[in-house]
Amino acid sequence: MSFTTLGLSADILRAIGEQGYTEPTPVQSKAIPIVLQGNDVLAGAQTGTGKTAGFTLPLLQRLTEKPLNGNRRPVRALVLTPTRELAAQVGDSVQTYGRHLPLQSAVIFGGVKINPQIAKLRRGVDILVATPGRLLDHVSQKTVDLSQIEILVLDEADRMLDMGFIHDIRKIMAILPDKNQRQTLLFSATFSNEIKQLANRLLNNPELIEVARQNTTAETIAQRIHLVDKNRKRELLSHMIGAHNWRQVLVFTRTKHGANRLADQLGKDGLTAAAIHGNKSQGARTRALADFKSGKVRILVATDIAARGLDIDQLPHVVNFELPNVPEDYVHRIGRTGRAGNEGEAVSLVCVDEHKLLRDIERLLKRELPKEIIEGYEPDPSIKAEPIQNGRNNRGRSQPRNQNRSRNGNSGGRSGNARGNGQNRAA
Ligand code: AMP
Repeated sequence: MSFTTLGLSADILRAIGEQGYTEPTPVQSKAIPIVLQGNDVLAGAQTGTGKTAGFTLPLLQRLTEKPLNGNRRPVRALVLTPTRELAAQVGDSVQTYGRHLPLQSAVIFGGVKINPQIAKLRRGVDILVATPGRLLDHVSQKTVDLSQIEILVLDEADRMLDMGFIHDIRKIMAILPDKNQRQTLLFSATFSNEIKQLANRLLNNPELIEVARQNTTAETIAQRIHLVDKNRKRELLSHMIGAHNWRQVLVFTRTKHGANRLADQLGKDGLTAAAIHGNKSQGARTRALADFKSGKVRILVATDIAARGLDIDQLPHVVNFELPNVPEDYVHRIGRTGRAGNEGEAVSLVCVDEHKLLRDIERLLKRELPKEIIEGYEPDPSIKAEPIQNGRNNRGRSQPRNQNRSRNGNSGGRSGNARGNGQNRAA
């Protein structure tokens, strides 16, 4: 799937290219054509799925397709978000994706002076990103006109309800054009009864979009990082699988060659493994997958390309033998486990060379992942290894067999037990 097939204009495609995006995320490929057709959308998607571009890109296009008559510049699109941070983030996306378009946008939220916001609104704004409270302040001061809204987006609607914004939302709805007179897009990570009721009130015959849980706020996925010397990754992996008797493990490598080599090495360690990647014939791939699903093969070593279409339900363990180059692929990989409410575990083996990739992933997830230092690893001062706090994350934590022997032969060497290798913590 490519962005070029979605019906977006050249100016928008250029901005996407400049961001380095090569293909749309699932929520984008689903939402963009629907929004471009002018339909309402009810989408189940979380942060990390690319939902912001999913609504921003077609919104920008709709506004440019239907230019305004005359000089007056009423607000034409309103994006409501629950937090200031999210408003700022969405505002940045609107700017970025719309940089080649003749549209003006503004972000308004509380906690900062209102006067610059008023000045900006007065100069003319097409797209307004706002938190509900401050928007209502502007409404009551008559510094914003919402009577011409063509597109309304409620981002993270579930959080908006959780944060007690329902009354504010009702007030805002009361002054917007009727739902038949505007296009409404509602994004929510969950569909509680309250969200369904809100959707009934706000949306006009919406198309439903659901994307697989992609981000790691999925409580069902326990994530752990093992900081480990590159040369000890395979040993650690074999140990984890053996010691914890993991029956079905999907392991990701970065290269096809790496996948083959690792599958061979695991075989030599007495573990049944198959490799699956783009250089394998379709027959070999189908066979490997069937063997993995049936339990004949315990470990499937895959590259990202091969893993994309894999459909394996209730996979208990995912291991990143190497981190992916693109942080979004991390989310995609670990989303293979913890599906449909089942518990899952995602372990990443990270060596010094991969610190930047790890930081990029944490930035994307907007949180730090719990880290353990494995014996023999040379700690990098820029990475903080944190003790693992809860029992869930501790489950299945692992040390290689010779954990008490550091590389220099010193038991309990400086990189070994000083921080966070888990030995003194309750299991
Ligand atoms: P969101 O779920 O909207 O918060 O987006 C999560 C992250 O994905 C943001 O950092 C975006 O810049 C990034 N992103 C959005 N769409 C794409 C894409 N098609 N390819 C790569 N990265 C993307």
